[in-house]
Amino acid sequence: MRLSIGNLFSLPANYAFRYLAREKLRSVCHNSRAIVLTYDDGPGTRLSRSLSEMLLSHGVRGTFFLLGRRVALDTETVDMLAREGHELGSHSYDHLHAWKSDTGRVLEDIDAGFNSVSRWVKPDGLFRPPHGKVTFTTWRALRKRGSRICWWTVDSGDTWPVLPTPQSIVDRVLRAGGGVVLMHDFDRGPDREEFVLKTTEALLVAAKSEGFRILKFSDLITPDAFSPKQG
Ligand SMILES: [Zn+2]
Repeated sequence: MRLSIGNLFSLPANYAFRYLAREKLRSVCHNSRAIVLTYDDGPGTRLSRSLSEMLLSHGVRGTFFLLGRRVALDTETVDMLAREGHELGSHSYDHLHAWKSDTGRVLEDIDAGFNSVSRWVKPDGLFRPPHGKVTFTTWRALRKRGSRICWWTVDSGDTWPVLPTPQSIVDRVLRAGGGVVLMHDFDRGPDREEFVLKTTEALLVAAKSEGFRILKFSDLITPDAFSPKQG
């Protein structure tokens, strides 16, 4: 990463910030027995559509954090997600890593991401940071915008070199008493896409049998000390 006073200062602060924000999310999910299914880096013409169909067949909705450069290639899929009632947020335009890229470029990437989804997402809409990384400067810019930073509590492992089993992810979510699950819905070959579909289905089935609610991200009512937006 680039060495600068700002970045050096932000490293420990970033870890502390993420830790506290995730602990808060964990307790909100636990207290309301809620599971939030989130999908990053899409839209994927195949996978986003299959996921939408599956979620709707269970009467629930997902939260999709859209990547501007993929939105530009397939606005129809985003239209479909919006029409079907899923929650949409921004995941930047070009997925720049806030710690490893020039701060000015990262800020432009955040703005470009919101501009690319302006048909569906308000300028102060939900934002999930690429790679889960923010710096003090990007956090401040998001706060000024009024946008809520959306962390996750359970990584599905769908980008790991070796895929876990869907059941192991379900077990982690149930043990935690719910949570915000990170998955990815861009089209990237049968193995990964099948894993995301199977994990989603396993979570939907487990939620029903164990009495969890599937919520959209903004349905989590959380007094968020790190964001100007409440609830
Ligand atoms: Zn991403």
